[in-house]
Amino acid sequence: MTTHFDLLVIGGGSGGLAHAQRAAEYGIKVAVVESGPLGGTCVNVGCVPKKIMWYSAHHAHQMKHAGDFGFDVSVNSHDWADLKKKRDAYIHRLNGIYEANLDRRDVIYLEGHASFIDDKTVAVGDKQYTADRFVIATGGFPIVPRIHGAEHGITSDGFFELEERPQRVALVGSGYISVELAGVFNALGSDTTVLVRKGGVVRSFDKMLRTELELAMHQSGIDLITGVVPHELKKTDNGLQLIAEDGREFGEYDAVVWAVGRAPNSEALDLDNAGVEMNGYGFIPTDDWQKTNVDHIFALGDVTGRDALTPVAIAAGRRLADRLYNNMPERRLEYHTIPTVIFTHPPIGTVGLTEEKAREQYGAQVKVYETRFNPMVYAFSENKVPTAMKLIVTGAEEKIVGCHIIGDGADEMLQGFAVAIRMGATKAQFDDTVAIHPTSSEELVTMR
Ligand SMILES: Cc1cc2nc3c(=O)[nH]c(=O)nc-3n(C[C@H](O)[C@H](O)[C@H](O)COP(=O)(O)OP(=O)(O)OC[C@H]3O[C@@H](n4cnc5c(N)ncnc54)[C@H](O)[C@@H]3O)c2cc1C
Repeated sequence: MTTHFDLLVIGGGSGGLAHAQRAAEYGIKVAVVESGPLGGTCVNVGCVPKKIMWYSAHHAHQMKHAGDFGFDVSVNSHDWADLKKKRDAYIHRLNGIYEANLDRRDVIYLEGHASFIDDKTVAVGDKQYTADRFVIATGGFPIVPRIHGAEHGITSDGFFELEERPQRVALVGSGYISVELAGVFNALGSDTTVLVRKGGVVRSFDKMLRTELELAMHQSGIDLITGVVPHELKKTDNGLQLIAEDGREFGEYDAVVWAVGRAPNSEALDLDNAGVEMNGYGFIPTDDWQKTNVDHIFALGDVTGRDALTPVAIAAGRRLADRLYNNMPERRLEYHTIPTVIFTHPPIGTVGLTEEKAREQYGAQVKVYETRFNPMVYAFSENKVPTAMKLIVTGAEEKIVGCHIIGDGADEMLQGFAVAIRMGATKAQFDDTVAIHPTSSEELVTMR
């Protein structure tokens, strides 16, 4: 027997839940299929547990500087296992809240793995379901390199399973997950090494951010080693040793974390049966309206290979529901000027074009405003962590097309500026805004 829905959403993560709930609010009969815990990557093995670990590391940094402000602080220990227990309990509560949210909106929650039988039918376990429309929001998973001994390493998923803090850690990879986790390990007391294939970290970000982040990592004691192409991960009597293609040996380490990218969860969906096309990497391309090559099958979030961020998946999901079920024919997510934060120490906040991309796009019309200073919080400290900011403007009206910040508070600073930039703000309008003093963010409206 089959059950029919107006809409069947595959994947109960950020994007899938957002779409399903919004559609249900418009009176649509919806089911969500989820093979793991509700909430997906962000809630279970991404943003949420990561930010908790970042807060812990942040407290370690704060305590280091507390003496500058009159405190006599001695930190005796850090209980990783206890923190993990609290973190797991918090996430478990969130899983429950997500389930209750579905229930409240009469969204049917189907536990299991979904795969297409044909373009109108999906199998979950031994049951089959048909629907008028399908939305694929199956996210991705961390890549493990295909090298000998790779199984001795862990991924970001494994990071969240660690019951205790390994003392000697290597993070392999140059992306934001690698540098974020490195910052956590380092602040909580591990000897931390980041091994990257090429010349540095977060290579798709503005050059100023890359340079400043590498300086800050170095200053905080993280060892960054470039030009390392992993060849083998060897288990020895004393830990794990990473052998590079050029024969160099690194380690030993107590844990090696692969942070070498993420791949889409698309293979096990049997997309061929529905005629849905993937690209060479397994991502599901969509048009500007989240539609795949099949008219009634849509895809959103990480599985599409676009900006892999929770609010992007959520926005795409909600807007698609607004368009399909609430008579808003022009409603869609435009994938530009998307702000993002890297939760390093200090954090990075960035929106718009890098200087390199702006120059490619606008040539000689580009002008750059830049500043670097020691925030007041380090006034009494010998270990100052500078803040750097860059505004990229174009044309005679000096429209702001890029804003890049690294420094304490950058994570909370960026959102408001991102609104202004999305609205097309100019440098003159920034300058015309009265500064808030004394803050770091005031520098963004006083740059010359
Ligand atoms: C370590 C880490 C840190 C991150 N930090 C941030 C951050 O700070 N800020 C931010 O914005 N983003 C962050 N992200 C990215 C963010 O988590 C993702 O962009 C977001 O979760 C994508 O949402 P999604 O709906 O596309 O997929 P997901 O949230 O991954 O959800 C997909 C769901 O589909 C399920 N599924 C897969 N296949 C099937 C199937 N065949 N049948 C049924 N269910 C299936 C999966 O179990 C999963 O629950 C982080 C990611 C990681 C890994």
